[in-house]
Amino acid sequence: MRIYKVGGAVRDRLLGIPVTDIDRVVVGATTEEMLAKGFRPVGADFPVFLHPKTGEEYALARTERKSGRGYGGFTFHASPEVTLEEDLIRRDLTINAMAEDDQQNLTDPYHGQRDLKARLLRHVSPAFAEDPLRVLRVARFAARYAEIGFTVAPETLELMRQLSESGELEALTAERSWKEISRALMENQPQVFVEVLRACGALKVLMPEIDALFGVPQPEAHHPEIDTGAHTLSVLEQAARHQQPLTVRWACLLHDLGKGLTPEEEWPRHIAHEFKGLKLIKAVNERFKAPRDCQELALLVGEYHTHGHRALELKPSTLLELLQSFDVYRRPQRFEEFIAACEMDARGRKGLEDRHYPQADYLRGAATAARGVAVQPLLEKGFKGPALGEAIKRERLKALKAYKEAASA
Ligand code: ATP
Ligand code: MG
Repeated sequence: MRIYKVGGAVRDRLLGIPVTDIDRVVVGATTEEMLAKGFRPVGADFPVFLHPKTGEEYALARTERKSGRGYGGFTFHASPEVTLEEDLIRRDLTINAMAEDDQQNLTDPYHGQRDLKARLLRHVSPAFAEDPLRVLRVARFAARYAEIGFTVAPETLELMRQLSESGELEALTAERSWKEISRALMENQPQVFVEVLRACGALKVLMPEIDALFGVPQPEAHHPEIDTGAHTLSVLEQAARHQQPLTVRWACLLHDLGKGLTPEEEWPRHIAHEFKGLKLIKAVNERFKAPRDCQELALLVGEYHTHGHRALELKPSTLLELLQSFDVYRRPQRFEEFIAACEMDARGRKGLEDRHYPQADYLRGAATAARGVAVQPLLEKGFKGPALGEAIKRERLKALKAYKEAASA
């Protein structure tokens, strides 16, 4: 049997990027031989094994044939006769279809090195169209490597367009899509992921709510970039620049969906877009079965981001309602993430990327003031049940009034 490193490990070594996970392919072996060497089998669909000591993945060389819709619709064929070249041709991109042995001898039948030099994401063969997830993968790699000059090859973008129009994207499961979306959002240039999906027509299929934002104007006074789609991309860009976590990036992506619903006669104003967008945010959340913390933050940021921007003008009672909505007493971290998303929204505007956002510290201070109200003295005064709740609220409101006065003094 012969063992090769494949995929990302080879690609990233050639790019001079640190390699994190190593995928290996085994040529000329049977399942029985692997088991006899102590490898542990994983994966029900095709033969992949874990190394008995390192735990790294070793897959038997295999070929694939499309036999139905979606990812389930594949027939795999693994046997000792499958060659390295046959295994590599089923892979998505030429830069992912190289292999090297332990002397670093490269096998590169589909010109991955040429495309690495040309900074091109190019499909290996027309079989690319057999798995619609590859549309998302290519967009994700574009987001990761845009920084070092990679773009999608025009003929690959064309295939992605055909795939998007074929209806195949709808066969993707929520789990597979979310895995790609969440990884793409955590890349350095997540906005490129959205741009590439839009360029090939996949955005319209996967997230029509975001696609609809392009071409929708906003008031130039607050939004020099005018276009709502362009604004959304900039907010994502800022979120990555400021190394925000996934929850914040997801909320940034979805915060303005309501603006896609504004009747044209009302443009460029978007009255109550915060509230109108909630049902769209909910729909996108559910479509991809986003994790609960992502779902929650996206809804809260959607509803309250303009409160964040107007923080310094909010009445103490409105400020209190905001803090209550976030349950800032038990969930301080979530409120921090809300503040971060608001700040990214404020900076994701043309020419305003480095503006100050005094609202952030003001909101933090308000949360601290409200959380400073001690319950014990109220208990000692004999408050209990709903009356206790009311008393706590009154004290918090007092604290916020004092806070606002002190801040404006
Ligand atoms: P990463 O750095 O994100 O791990 P990677 O290229 O190693 O990048 P993996 O998802 O680990 O990506 O997959 C390993 C290899 O398997 C890829 O390089 C590619 O050759 C192949 N591959 C994975 N998923 C697909 C797919 N859906 N279609 C075609 N080839 C795939
Ligand atoms: Mg990998």
